[in-house]
Amino acid sequence: MTPEELARKADTAGLRLVRFLWCGNDGTIRAKASSRHGLEGRLARGIGVTRAMQAMNALDQLQPVEGYGPVGEFRLVPDLDTFRPLPYAPNTGVVLTDHVLPDGTPAGVCQRTFLKRQQERLRERGLDLRAAFENEFSLARCDDGDYTPVDTSLCFSTIAMAKSREYVDALVAALESQRIPLEQYYAELGHGQQEVSTAHASAVQAADEQILVRETIRGVAAEQELVASLAPKPWADVAGNGAHVHFSLWEGEQNRFYAEGGLSELAEQFLAGVLEHLPGLCGLTAPSFQSYARIAPGMWAGAYACWGHDNREAPVRVPSPFLGVEEASTNAELKAVDATCNPYLALGGIIAAGLDGVERGLVLPDPVNVDPATLPDGERPRPLPATQAEALDALAADDVLIGALGDELARPYLAVRRSEWAAFSAEDEEFTLQHHFEKY
Ligand code: GLU
Ligand code: MG
Repeated sequence: MTPEELARKADTAGLRLVRFLWCGNDGTIRAKASSRHGLEGRLARGIGVTRAMQAMNALDQLQPVEGYGPVGEFRLVPDLDTFRPLPYAPNTGVVLTDHVLPDGTPAGVCQRTFLKRQQERLRERGLDLRAAFENEFSLARCDDGDYTPVDTSLCFSTIAMAKSREYVDALVAALESQRIPLEQYYAELGHGQQEVSTAHASAVQAADEQILVRETIRGVAAEQELVASLAPKPWADVAGNGAHVHFSLWEGEQNRFYAEGGLSELAEQFLAGVLEHLPGLCGLTAPSFQSYARIAPGMWAGAYACWGHDNREAPVRVPSPFLGVEEASTNAELKAVDATCNPYLALGGIIAAGLDGVERGLVLPDPVNVDPATLPDGERPRPLPATQAEALDALAADDVLIGALGDELARPYLAVRRSEWAAFSAEDEEFTLQHHFEKY
């Protein structure tokens, strides 16, 4: 599609604004919008954004990172194939963007380009990572600045479904209109908690859709004067919100994770790599201060570095394949993921970790088929990071992940996330709850 063709589509849809979206190192989603006037030029050449945004944390505190200060500019250059009219914002459309240098070359800090690079490494082996996010989120009313869950009902409760029926119907319609196929919806364990899972897609498309799904969850809520939050811990005493990632490697239409009777050797090596790098990977997949309220025993998010068949306390779960469609349904699920992650970094990190396992021919340890917390000392797998600071230290010490990110991305990323640790550690729990609720 050319900029002119896209502009004609925007006219047909009656759009006045097109949002140019990106997800930053802080995992928040931000945008600049173009009006119809000059749209073709901005679609072709992008919109300028200060380099400083890559050093901005989730409290809008600019961090001192060399090269990411007040001087210098990136272009937010859209991928025109990502264009959609937005069903929850009047006369507004959206595109996802790459960060590009003024001379037209990709910026080293660009998270979306990082994921494309990792996919390219797979493509050299004839492979493609397909992934799907399962987003949990909390639906609330805002009363005098306090967020109250819309229900206090049970896990998978139909009473909760009845309570949120209008919101959910609008959400499903909004996803359909953006060509994002919904697989399942249900009311989850926590108060006001909902879950939507969308279809798997090639990694860059899956990450793009994760951004659009997050936007849609919140956008539809705003239309109904509700607030939706994907924060890992919406309230201190209720179940957390995960964004589990299902993934598998494909060669054309063949699922290379599958072998007669279970996982292929390729899948085992790839998962061995994911497990080996899991502490550092958590710094990309569960990267916020609050992420560690759910990476804890008993949260069904995984707290010990292990994998298991249908084991919901293992951070890597291999679900039983479906009868009759074993090949198509063979996949692994990483549970140590939440929606405060930048999805391009999360999926790129999974590929870099998995490929390391393949390149080194790593052997997958035996599955853990009990709750790992119940194993005696000495048999229990090593714990995952217990705090954001530990996860970021593990990431900083992981040469494979840092090497894949590259210095221009790793440096501002670690600075931004570490500054959040410093800021939230100095405040009370209420401050943490409020800011994560409102930012994600
Ligand atoms: N809410 C749990 C989490 O934070 C997941 C529950 C489940 O879907 O198994 O990851
Ligand atoms: Mg769930």
